[in-house]
Amino acid sequence: MCLMCVEIALDRMSFMEARRALPELIDTAKSEEEKEHFRRLQEASDEEMKEIALKKTGVK
Ligand SMILES: [Zn+2]
Repeated sequence: MCLMCVEIALDRMSFMEARRALPELIDTAKSEEEKEHFRRLQEASDEEMKEIALKKTGVK
């Protein structure tokens, strides 16, 4: 479970805050898969970021 995706999905974290947090999350990611996930978010547009977060968390 990715906490940041939950925050984004529930609109508790803005895209700007997420972008600010991503470099550190990439640095401290525990697995290659996690790192890849954060990189994808970093490259995504706001809309795509929300879409990824919703898909990942299953929040509707
Ligand atoms: Zn995530």
